[in-house]
Amino acid sequence: MKEKGKNEIICIMGDRGKNAVRTAEMIREKELSVREVLDLVYENIRLKDGELNCYITQDKENAYKAAEAMQKRIDAGEDAGKLAGVPVAVKDNFCTKALRTTCASKMLESYIPPYDAAVVTNIKKAGGIITGKTNMDEFAFGSRSDISYFGPVRNPADIRRSAGGSSGGSAAAVAAGEALIALGTDTGGSVRLPASHCGVVGIKPTYGRASRYGLIAYASSFDQAGVMAADVESAAIALECLCSYDPKDATSLNRPDMLGTEVYDGRVKGMRIGLCEDVLEKCDAGVAAAVNKAVQELEGAGAYVETLSIKNREYELPAYYALVSAEASSNLERYDGVKYGYRSAEYTGLEDMYLRSRTEGFGEEVKRRIMLGSFVLSAGYYDDIYLRAMKVRKLITREYDELFKGYDLLIGPVSTETAPLLNEKDEDPVKEWYKDLCTVSANLGGYPAMSLPCGCDGRGMPIGLHLMSGRFRENNMIKAAYALERILSEAE
Ligand code: GLN
Repeated sequence: MKEKGKNEIICIMGDRGKNAVRTAEMIREKELSVREVLDLVYENIRLKDGELNCYITQDKENAYKAAEAMQKRIDAGEDAGKLAGVPVAVKDNFCTKALRTTCASKMLESYIPPYDAAVVTNIKKAGGIITGKTNMDEFAFGSRSDISYFGPVRNPADIRRSAGGSSGGSAAAVAAGEALIALGTDTGGSVRLPASHCGVVGIKPTYGRASRYGLIAYASSFDQAGVMAADVESAAIALECLCSYDPKDATSLNRPDMLGTEVYDGRVKGMRIGLCEDVLEKCDAGVAAAVNKAVQELEGAGAYVETLSIKNREYELPAYYALVSAEASSNLERYDGVKYGYRSAEYTGLEDMYLRSRTEGFGEEVKRRIMLGSFVLSAGYYDDIYLRAMKVRKLITREYDELFKGYDLLIGPVSTETAPLLNEKDEDPVKEWYKDLCTVSANLGGYPAMSLPCGCDGRGMPIGLHLMSGRFRENNMIKAAYALERILSEAE
């Protein structure tokens, strides 16, 4: 390795920015070998992961094999893809062929899928090297990545704190240089919240842009794969590689337009932005100050920012939790100990086998969601709760659809607070659900949304700015985020 390249990549892999695009460029230009980059990532994993617990399963052997094959292609002058040689970590709810996929649950502790999820195939096609599977909340139910059968993920900025959830392992891995790109899933905020708590960029595309084929379902009408990276450009390029039309997913949409990577002019002049004051008011002082500063910068760059309040905000969380629990209870019916997954060692008959396998295989939060969902869908309450929640979803979406006629973007905080301490958790599990206040709207309406690091609070914990645009207008938020990222880094 040339010394210059080596120093730069060590800097890239250090604490400040692990730019995947730049790394891919250096690999293409042979300033770095694929193996050297992988060595650095696995060295970070070796040094840090004992504490951070980002990975449930590492796939070192196959990663090095893939690296070798990739290097051959590069050396032969082939175009090996936009992510050629870039180490990518994958959340453990995406199926990976011959690689254990657990969903952080005892239920799937030894499950080995026979196929790759469509988005994993896409990342491999783009040249990404899969480093392993990241830790998460069990079945993606949670906001802290502490409800994992494999123990909690710890925040690289302060290991006493949560990395956010449910894709906490992915966010922490990127923040710690244990991967340059990571895949997550976002049903109600699980890409954006951990990205925000760990200080990385996290993007969830419009519902239907990324295939759900091979993604272990939580709530199918909300679930969407997303990406995390240290910077906007790397995240946007990874997003472009992730998304594709897939006939194997009935909700997949064939819309490759306006994904955003074409808009790196950083021009926000004339952009119309709505600032969601209703959630800003609920924020801790440090978070509110950082968001307000970002707003000022956007205005300074020529954007028009108006404050507004979301009228139906109070209905968002109730509608979200009623509907996702309903969908989850149905999706999780398949884990019965018969075809795959955990089966209790002792039972007296079929019914008893179901009962014991599910009782022993699922954690507490999963059971809570299944019970709530079954209740919501039960004959006596279906009309009263499920159907009503569906109507409320429509109402909420209508409000945002109207707003997106006048605004290119809606912005606000990703979370009202920075990463909470792992050992300080309210006894009441429902309190935990309020953590999704600022993020569920994007999933209720299928809008693209992202988290952009916009500073730190007094304790040095990262703060995320939430940007959301109309369906298929990823370009708006990526453009603004790219501009803001530059302005904020220059101001430092
Ligand atoms: N915290 C939310 C929930 O538990 C969001 C999770 C997610 O997006 N996967 O439902």
